[in-house]
Amino acid sequence: MNCPICGNDTKVVETRISDNGSSIRRRRECVSCGKRFTTYEKFEDMPLVVIKKDGRKELFDGSKILKGLVKACEKRPIGIDRLKEFVEEVERELKNNYTEVPSEIIGQTVMDKLILMDQVSYVRFASVYKHFDDVETFIHEIEQMERKKKQ
Ligand SMILES: [Zn+2]
Repeated sequence: MNCPICGNDTKVVETRISDNGSSIRRRRECVSCGKRFTTYEKFEDMPLVVIKKDGRKELFDGSKILKGLVKACEKRPIGIDRLKEFVEEVERELKNNYTEVPSEIIGQTVMDKLILMDQVSYVRFASVYKHFDDVETFIHEIEQMERKKKQ
């Protein structure tokens, strides 16, 4: 960044991260006139943090969802572009509601949207995601699907 007074280069003399970690404050000094000033850096697009079942945290990775969707939508009339759009919608939706989101919520959000888009893909995705333990759970899913269809 250039000095607002003389337009010369500035150097960073101090860097501090805000308490909540969402911004960085820097003290800068002009290499020419020696004037000091402060700048703030913020994420333009806050990253979404995923809390996994074992409590570990990682950054949201849409490509993982996409991979699952591609598999679930195999031989279905849904193009890859539509699926990418789908993942973006999921991410937007999650970011609107969370900065840290439990992984179960992500799976649930995907399923809630997928059932509206394509029911065969939904069952495939859900069966992998939920590891249907028994036939009963599976039947329950199908019933739920039928109910949603009628709504
Ligand atoms: Zn200056």
